[in-house]
Amino acid sequence: MDLNISVELTSAKKQKPEIDQLSFGKYFTDHMFIMDYDAGKGWHDPRIIPYQPISLDPAAKVFHYGQTVFEGMKAYKTAEGRILMFRPYKNLQRLNRSNARLSIPALDENVIMEALRKLVLVDEEWIPDEQGTSLYIRPFVIATQATLGVSPSEQYHFMIILSPVGSYYAEGINPVSIFVESEYVRAVTGGVGNAKTGGNYAAGLKAQQEATDKGYSQVLWLDGVHRKYIEEVGSMNVFFKVGGKVITPALNGSILDGVTRDSVIQLLRYWDIEVEERAISINELVEAYRNGTLEEAFGTGTAAVISPIGELNWQGDKLALNEGRTGPLSAKIYDFMTGIQRGTLEDPFGWVVKL
Ligand SMILES: *Cc1c(COP(=O)(O)O)cnc(C)c1O
Repeated sequence: MDLNISVELTSAKKQKPEIDQLSFGKYFTDHMFIMDYDAGKGWHDPRIIPYQPISLDPAAKVFHYGQTVFEGMKAYKTAEGRILMFRPYKNLQRLNRSNARLSIPALDENVIMEALRKLVLVDEEWIPDEQGTSLYIRPFVIATQATLGVSPSEQYHFMIILSPVGSYYAEGINPVSIFVESEYVRAVTGGVGNAKTGGNYAAGLKAQQEATDKGYSQVLWLDGVHRKYIEEVGSMNVFFKVGGKVITPALNGSILDGVTRDSVIQLLRYWDIEVEERAISINELVEAYRNGTLEEAFGTGTAAVISPIGELNWQGDKLALNEGRTGPLSAKIYDFMTGIQRGTLEDPFGWVVKL
C-alpha cells in the first residue's frame, strides 16, 4: 500500500468552540483523512483534506445493508504539550477484526497509524488540554458501491474524523442508573455483537429510548439465548466486585472486546486483585446483592473510561450499589487510567504512545 499520504490544508480555518461548549462529538476539526478501495486496485489515494461533506450515490450499499465498521479512540495533550494516545494498535487490530466479520477488505494497520498521527498533528491546535478533555478520534469504513444486490461491496471509503470532547463528568465522576433489559436483546453469538458496527447500535436504540423514558441512562443487556447472562452496558463492558473479587463477562462472541476492559483486567491483576472472566447470571448478582456481597459495579469504555453504576433496575427491583455512590475501587481505577492516559502518572505497561 502507498504510504505517501498527501495533505491539502484548508484555506478557511473554523472558529474553535469554547471548552465548556464541547460535550461529545458535536464539533469537528479542520481536516479529515480519506482513502478509497476499489476491487482489483486495493486501498489507494490516502489523503488529508479539509473537513467536508462527501457525495455518495443513493444506491451505495452502506445505506441499504449497513456494511460499515468504526472505531473510537482518544488523543490527549499533556501539560508539557506532548500528544499521547492509549494503546492505538489495539483499536486498529480490532478494526480489522470488525472488517473481517463484515466482509470488508483489511486495512494496513501501519498505514492507518501513520494517517492518524499525521491527521492529529495537522489539527494539533484542536486538542483541548483541560482536565478531562481530549480529542476523540473516529476511524470508520463505509461500503460505497452503487448496486442493490446483496453482496460485499467492491468499493469503500475509509475515513478518520476528529472531535474535541469535553469532560465526560462535568461535576466529577458520578454513578449512573442502569435498566436491566429483559425484552430486547442486543446480539447473539455467531452474529455481529463482537464487531464494532453500526447495526448493533441501531438495534439497541429502542431499548435505550425506553430506558431513558423511565429515567435510566443506559441498559444492561442480557444474553439473547437464555435471557439471563450479563452481556454489556450500552457501549461499555461491565464489571462487578463481589465478595472482594472482580468478575466480568467472558468474551463469548456476542460482546465487544473493549480495550478499556482488557486494560482494567491487566491493571487489577497488577494490583493483585483477583479477576474472573466468566458467565455471570443476573440471578447471581441479585443473590449477591441480597446477601450483601455485591460491593461495586462499573462500566468501561473509551468515552467515559470508568462509569460507576449506582443503581440496577431488575424487573422493578431497584438494587442500590455502594449506596448509590462511586465505589473506592471504581475511583481508584479511574484515577490510575486517566492519570497514565494524560501523562501525569507513570505507565508501567507501555500502553501510552507519544505521537
Ligand atoms: C466501543 C465499545 C465498547 C468499549 O470498547 P473500548 O475499546 O473500551 O472503548 C464496549 N461495548 C461496545 C458495544 C462498544 O461499541
